[in-house]
Amino acid sequence: MAKVLITGGAGFIGANLARRLVAAKHEVSVLDNLYTGRKSELEGLPITFLGQDVREPISGDYDWIFNLACPASPPHYQRDPLFTLTTSIDGMRNVLEAAKRTGARVLHASTSEIYGDPLVHPQPESYWGHVNTLGIRSCYDEGKRVAETMALEYRRAFGVDVRLVRIFNTYGPHMDPKDGRVVSNFILQALRNEPITLYGEGQQTRSFQFVDDLLHGFMAYMEAPKDKLKSFFKEKGLNIPVLNMGNPGEFTVRELAEEVLSLLPESTSSLTFCSLPGDDPKRRKPNIDWAKECLGWEPTIPLREGLSKTIPYFRAFA
Ligand code: UDP
Repeated sequence: MAKVLITGGAGFIGANLARRLVAAKHEVSVLDNLYTGRKSELEGLPITFLGQDVREPISGDYDWIFNLACPASPPHYQRDPLFTLTTSIDGMRNVLEAAKRTGARVLHASTSEIYGDPLVHPQPESYWGHVNTLGIRSCYDEGKRVAETMALEYRRAFGVDVRLVRIFNTYGPHMDPKDGRVVSNFILQALRNEPITLYGEGQQTRSFQFVDDLLHGFMAYMEAPKDKLKSFFKEKGLNIPVLNMGNPGEFTVRELAEEVLSLLPESTSSLTFCSLPGDDPKRRKPNIDWAKECLGWEPTIPLREGLSKTIPYFRAFA
């Protein structure tokens, strides 16, 4: 049994992770300021809830810290860009300080946004990205990039055991129905018989990972021996572990809409085209060779199956 802290544990991935850790009999604490997290998603779970902003110093003693605190959907992280930026940067520093003090192992939720609007496809971890410091996504992307650098430097200076995971688009039960992401929007629109809002021509692609696959990867990564990771990444020329986690199946946003509609044949929704938000990446697909090689991990749940497992959760909100 490990003593575990999940920052941002009332968010979508955090709430799923808390369930999984509780089921595995770990002792779980969740730190969340409820900016986007929802305490109701943790109801009935035997966890300790700390109503705290990750930008404040973290006390307590933990074996593992999962650092998930940061608004992650574009409408939410763009609502208060300075909040988003400082949550990533100051939050990472506080997590690393806590780890330095207690010897906790850290798994930090980085993002495919590190690659920006990528010119290399699919994206391997060695790709440095094609990024914009001055766009509407920059508050999220650049905060996450600085957090990776900070993790590297805490590892170098203080030996903090920190592992970076670049998460590609993930979906599943416990997503916030109001967070404006494509999967939640399309399912809810189809259930409510409202128009399905395709941004732009709907030709941009994403790779959609069911949350259970991601959590399986999280656990394998967190449990991997430090020395094993060290030698694997040394061979790659890196001083810190960094792995993509996503499902390499690539779909246009239009294909996603059609898949959702085919699973809800009673829906009367039709497709409608809306303006494309600024800096919206055109293509995104992870190269997951390193995660396969290093952890023996790869996703097993195809899009159609994952959507079928997700739709029932949203019925209550339709
Ligand atoms: N998108 C869309 N309709 C929506 C919401 C999103 O067409 O109602 C598009 C969005 O422009 C992007 C993709 O779907 O190209 C994924 O958007 P999301 O906000 O889920 O995540 P992102 O990968 O952009 O961070």
